[in-house]
Amino acid sequence: MTTSQPRPSYDPAATVLEHCRSLVRIDTTNFGDDSGPGERTAAEYVAERLTDAGLEPELIEAHPGRASVLARWDGRDADADPLLLHGHLDVVPARAEDWSVPPFAAEIVDDYLYGRGTVDMKDFDAMLLSVLEARQRAGWAPRRPIVLAFTADEEAGSRRGAHWLVEEHPDWFADCSEAVGEVGGFSTDVAGRRLYLIESGEKGMTWVRLTARGHAGHGSMRHPDNAIARLAETVAAIGAYEWPAQPGPAMRQLIEKVRELADSSSDDPDKLIAELGPAARMIGAGIRNTTNPTMLRAGYKVNVVPGEAQAWIDGRFLPGERDAFVEWLRERAGPDVDVDIQLEDVALEGEFAGDLVDAMTTSLLDEDPDAEVAPYLMSGGTDAKAWSRLGIRSYGFTPLRLPPDLDFTALFHGVDERVPVDALSFGARVLDRLLDRA
Ligand SMILES: [Zn+2]
Repeated sequence: MTTSQPRPSYDPAATVLEHCRSLVRIDTTNFGDDSGPGERTAAEYVAERLTDAGLEPELIEAHPGRASVLARWDGRDADADPLLLHGHLDVVPARAEDWSVPPFAAEIVDDYLYGRGTVDMKDFDAMLLSVLEARQRAGWAPRRPIVLAFTADEEAGSRRGAHWLVEEHPDWFADCSEAVGEVGGFSTDVAGRRLYLIESGEKGMTWVRLTARGHAGHGSMRHPDNAIARLAETVAAIGAYEWPAQPGPAMRQLIEKVRELADSSSDDPDKLIAELGPAARMIGAGIRNTTNPTMLRAGYKVNVVPGEAQAWIDGRFLPGERDAFVEWLRERAGPDVDVDIQLEDVALEGEFAGDLVDAMTTSLLDEDPDAEVAPYLMSGGTDAKAWSRLGIRSYGFTPLRLPPDLDFTALFHGVDERVPVDALSFGARVLDRLLDRA
């Protein structure tokens, strides 16, 4: 196949809804301890679709049931660096009693597809399958070769997914320099304009356990050396701390764009980010470190002072801030509270420029000409952290055109997670364009 061949007509969104519904109905809940059903059934579903489309996928398990799928898709320009397109197959738990519809039924209500994974991130998995099938049927390869990765275990830190693939099967990604995955490409509303946010970096994470010790004894006596009281003081101080705004390059670009769209003269980054509406809660975490206390454990009887009390902090730091951040935590904890780092991962900040960024931007604008595009730094972590170990630069780009009143970022891991049905088709069309432009 040559690059001069004319592009045939086909519908890249023909099967996106069907695949998203099928994947949501396969429960791939990840409890973080291998106790869930695993990703195997979803991986088999994906592998079958890839095989039917003429690819030769490899299904690999890091642990029984914890399966990922890898495949290579040839491009028209065989000499180009392959682009890594990736989506995880696992989802976080959903408590059915909290939802207005069953979370694994993939019901459609008022033009929304409901279900765990519809935004995080079986939507993108389905877009990949739909675009692949349509192109393979039409005989129209992407410009660059593509490495497809459907991963396990993203929701628990990727140790049985992307990190494991990077350690055990790095050859698959050897010549990849760039990747496209989740948590970006969705639209928000700023002063009546649609603004698409592309993730160009991620905060790092430091999950710590705090342990306070004291004298155990009878709850009726005087206890100046009470482990719970000591721990509570530290936890309250950490939880109440207001981290200062320190926007990096991506967030400065975003803030500038918002200032322009909102026609504002403000210099206050938080005020400008507030223009993003409900998305501000997530986006605002991209300009500062955060330290949220999330778990407590202490005591076993009301009239017994325990000798030990523990708390856990979900800490997230900006690129370049890791050491100062950990130092701050140790200082706040003081000499009487131990700080144990239980899990850490890197922060990433990529430049928002270059051919791939241009290709993502123009692909979006082709489908939504009046829209605006800006980068942002994501507050959470994704498989991008694993790929970065191989020097691969990642972008979060799962294109969704959303209604202005939808509190989209709250749907990640949220109750009644849902995606507009037409946004899935939109995403497939943008992704299809990207495969010719990238
Ligand atoms: Zn995700």
